[in-house]
Amino acid sequence: MKKCTRCGRLLPLSQFHRDKISEDGHYYVCKECRRKYYSDQHGGVAHLLRHSTTEELEQELARRAALARAKTEQT
Ligand SMILES: [Zn+2]
Repeated sequence: MKKCTRCGRLLPLSQFHRDKISEDGHYYVCKECRRKYYSDQHGGVAHLLRHSTTEELEQELARRAALARAKTEQT
């Protein structure tokens, strides 16, 4: 069991995404809070979290930012 730093609930580790960097190998906020956080921050990419690692998500966000930039430059 692990306590989510955001909602404060005590949840099984399966409710936390894996995170190589953190001490116990799991993210410090639960999947639900993390999904909510990304949905607030980035709108449409929240669904990616279900199958994505943080690295993959960040790559996707970078890709979208690059696409948006390219579009702006063309017009
Ligand atoms: Zn939580």
